[in-house]
Amino acid sequence: MRMAELVYNEQGRLLFTEEMRREYTILIPNMLPIHFTMLERIFNNHGYKVKLLTSMGRKIIDEGLENVHNDTCYPALLCIGQFMDALKSGEYDINKTALMMIQTGGGCRASNYIHLIRKALKRCGMEQVPVISLNLAGLEKNPGFKLTASMLSQFITGICYADLLMLLANQVRPYENNKGECDRLVNKWIDHLVEIKFSYTAFDRISSRIVEDFKKIPYTPDPDKVKVGIVGEIFIKYSPLGNNELQKFLESEGCEVCCPGLIDFLIFMGDHQIVETSIYHTKYKKYIASATVKGFFKMMQNKIIKALEGTRFRPPARFEETKKNVLPFLSPANKMGEGWLLTAEMVELVENGISNIVCAQPFGCLPNHIVGKGMIRKIRAVHPQANIVAIDYDPGATKVNQENRIKLMLSSAKANAGK
Ligand code: SF4
Repeated sequence: MRMAELVYNEQGRLLFTEEMRREYTILIPNMLPIHFTMLERIFNNHGYKVKLLTSMGRKIIDEGLENVHNDTCYPALLCIGQFMDALKSGEYDINKTALMMIQTGGGCRASNYIHLIRKALKRCGMEQVPVISLNLAGLEKNPGFKLTASMLSQFITGICYADLLMLLANQVRPYENNKGECDRLVNKWIDHLVEIKFSYTAFDRISSRIVEDFKKIPYTPDPDKVKVGIVGEIFIKYSPLGNNELQKFLESEGCEVCCPGLIDFLIFMGDHQIVETSIYHTKYKKYIASATVKGFFKMMQNKIIKALEGTRFRPPARFEETKKNVLPFLSPANKMGEGWLLTAEMVELVENGISNIVCAQPFGCLPNHIVGKGMIRKIRAVHPQANIVAIDYDPGATKVNQENRIKLMLSSAKANAGK
C-alpha cells in the first residue's frame, strides 16, 4: 500500500497532513475511562480514526524503561511505553499510524512528553510516525488536525457529562443489586450523548434525566462500606494503567470510591493564571481567557450540583469553597503539577467526612510530592481523624506491596469506624 508523503515544517518536525487524516489511525492513551471514551467517539464522528489504548501489564513498563531515561516521571514512562508497545505489537501498520498526546502547556514535564515520544520513536527506527499535540495553548499546529468549534464544544460539554456520570457511577456501583447494571447505564448514556452531540443547551434537562436513571437502579444500602477518596497526580489518580486498577481493587475490598472530577482541575487551570497575573503582572490577554474558562466551568459545576440537590447522591464541592479551605495550608501560587488543588482535595474530603484517602504519588514527580505527600502531616495536625496513605507508583513497585499498604489503611479505617 502506498505510504502518505512525509512533510516536515521549517524546524524539521514531521507534520500530520490532510492525506494522513483520511488514512491514519491515531492512538491515544486512556487517562480517564468515561471521559476518554467520549473523546474517542467525538473524534471519530468528525472524520478521524482514533483508537483509545487500553492495554495493561508489565510489558508497558518495560517498553517505557527501554525508551525513556529512568529519571523520567512515571506517567510519561507509561504513556510512552504504551505507545511503543502498541506500535511493536503488529496490530497497527506503522506507516499508517499517528500518536496523539495531550499537552497542558504548563511549566511541568507534561509539556515535554511530546519530545520524549519523538525521541523514543527515533530510537526504535519509527520516525515516520507523526505525533500530534492536543492542546488549547496553540502549541504545535498540524495541517491535518484542527480543533473545530463543533469538536471543541462537544469536548467541553462531554467533560461535564462525563464528570456527572463518573460521580454517580462511583456512588451507585458498590451498592447495586444486579452486578454490571450501573456500568451498562453509563454506556447507554454515552451512546445517547454521542447521538445528541453532547448538547449544551439541553444540559440541565439531560443531567436531571441521568440522575433519575441512576436513582432507579435497585440497590442495598450498606452503612459498613468504607468511603475512600483518591487524590494525586492527574494521570496516576485516574488511569487504571497508572494506578494498577486502584478503583477496582478498592471496590473489591468493599469500599466506595470518591474521586474528584476533572472540572475542578480545569477551573484550577483557569484560576492559577488569574493568580499569576495578580502576583507577577503577566499578560492581561491570558488573564481574560483564563477568567472565561474558569467562569464557564464554575457555571457547569453549579449545574451539576443543582441536578444532584435533594437526591441521595453526594454533589461535588464548589470550587471557591475548596480553594478557601486550603488557604490555611498553602499559597494559591503553588501551581506546578496539581498545585494547591491536590492538598485542597484532601482537605475537602476530610472536612466532608471522607477521612480515608489514598494519595497516589508517581515516581519522579517533584511538584506533587510537595503538595501531596508533603502536606499530609500538616493536614493531620489540623484534622487528626485524617487517615491518608501515600502510595508510590514506580516501575519497581509491586501491585501486592501497594495493595498491602492500602489494606493497612483500610484496617485503621474500620477500627476508627468501630470507635
Ligand atoms: S505532574 Fe508530575 S507526573 Fe505529572 S507530568 Fe508533571 S512531573 Fe510528571
